[in-house]
Amino acid sequence: MTVRAGREFLAIPGPTTMPDEVLQAMHRPALDIYSKEMVELTESLLADLSKLFATKGQSYIHIANGHGAWESTLSNVLSRGDKVLVLESGRFAIGWGQAAAAMGAEVEVLKGDWRRAIRLTDVEERLRQDKEHKIKAILAVQVDTASGAYNDIEAIGKAIKASGHPALFMVDTVASLGCMPFEMDAWGVDVAMSGSQKGLMTPPGLGFVAANDRAREVHKKAGLRTPYWDWSEREGSEHYRKYAGTAPVHLLFALRRAIDMLHEEGLENAFQRHRLLGEAVRRAVSVWAEGQVIGFNIAEPQERSNTVTTVLMNGHDPVALHRYCKEKCGVVLGVGIGELHGQAFRIAHMGHVNAPMILGTLGVVEVALNALDIPHGKGGTEAAIEWLGESVSA
Ligand SMILES: *Cc1c(COP(=O)(O)O)cnc(C)c1O
Repeated sequence: MTVRAGREFLAIPGPTTMPDEVLQAMHRPALDIYSKEMVELTESLLADLSKLFATKGQSYIHIANGHGAWESTLSNVLSRGDKVLVLESGRFAIGWGQAAAAMGAEVEVLKGDWRRAIRLTDVEERLRQDKEHKIKAILAVQVDTASGAYNDIEAIGKAIKASGHPALFMVDTVASLGCMPFEMDAWGVDVAMSGSQKGLMTPPGLGFVAANDRAREVHKKAGLRTPYWDWSEREGSEHYRKYAGTAPVHLLFALRRAIDMLHEEGLENAFQRHRLLGEAVRRAVSVWAEGQVIGFNIAEPQERSNTVTTVLMNGHDPVALHRYCKEKCGVVLGVGIGELHGQAFRIAHMGHVNAPMILGTLGVVEVALNALDIPHGKGGTEAAIEWLGESVSA
C-alpha cells in the first residue's frame, strides 16, 4: 500500500520545485538571438543579478551548473601556482578548492568542522601569519548544503579586513541567493557565484558570477583564463559574446519569470518566508530529537541555515527513511553526503516553498518515523504548526 500519487515532491536541495509560471515561461519558440528582444532580456537579467548579489560590479551568466561557475571564478582571477585559502565548513568549499587544485593552484584548507560554521578568529589569525601575502584568494560558502551550516559572510569579510590582507574574498551563494540576505559590496566580497536551480527556482543549467572592480583588475593578469569562461570575452559588444556562443534562450525565459516572481513577492518577504519556514523545520527536528536518535548536524542554533536542515540519525538507517518517504508518500528527502553519507538526511526549504509543502514534508517524515519504529519525540509537526500560528499574524 502507498499513499503516493501524482506529482513527486522534491525536498532535496536542488534542483528544487519550479513554479508553474516558470515552467510555462519556457513554453514558447526561441528568439532570434540577434534581436532587440534578446539583447534586452540579457541586459535586464544581468542588471537584476547584480541587484540580487547587491553589487555595483559586473555580473556574468554562464551556461553551466554551480561547478561551472566555480571554474569561472577561479580561471578568471588566478594564475598557475597561486595560493588559495579554503575556509572549511562542510563539503562545498572543499569541492571548490579541489577544482582550484586541479586547475594548478596551490590550495590550503583552513581546517573547519562539519558541525560548525567557519570560525572567525581562525581566519584572521591565518591571514595575519601570511605576512608575504602569498594567499591570493579566500574561498567560502554562505550556506554549506551538505552540513547545513550558515556562515556569517559579513563577519568573515570584517575579519579579512581587520587582518589587512589583500587576498580576493570569493563566496559561493548557490544555496542562499534569493533566500537569505547577501550584500556583496557592503560585506567586502570581491567575487560571488551562484546557480539557477536552488533558491532561484529555475531549471539547472545557468551559473552566475559577479565580480567587483578589484577582482576585474586582478583578472587582467590571470594566467588561467580560457576562452569559454573569460570575463573580458563576455564584455564584448556583440550580444552572442555574453554567452560565448548561442544564448540559452529558454533558461533565460525561465530565469526572467523567476526573478519577476521574487520581485512581486519582495525580496525581504522572501527572506522572511525562508526564516519562518526554516524555523518551522527546526521546531519539528527539536521535538523529534527528544527521542535521542534524531539530531541537528549543526550544533549551534545560530549557525543553522534557513535553506536546508541536515538531520543526523545516530545509528538508524537514513536509507530506509528516505525510501519510505519517497516510495510510500512521494516526498524525496536529501540524503547525507560527504562525511555524513549513511548517517543523515536533509530537508531542503529553499526557493519555491510554502507552508503546505513544508508542513507536508514534516508530516511525511513523521509518518516514516512512526512506520519504521524510529524513536523520536512526539509532536514535531505540531510544533512547526504552532510556530507558524504564532509568528504568521492574522
Ligand atoms: C549545489 C551546490 C553547488 C554545486 O552546484 P551544481 O549546480 O550541482 O554544480 C555548489 N555550492 C553549493 C553551496 C551548492 O549547494
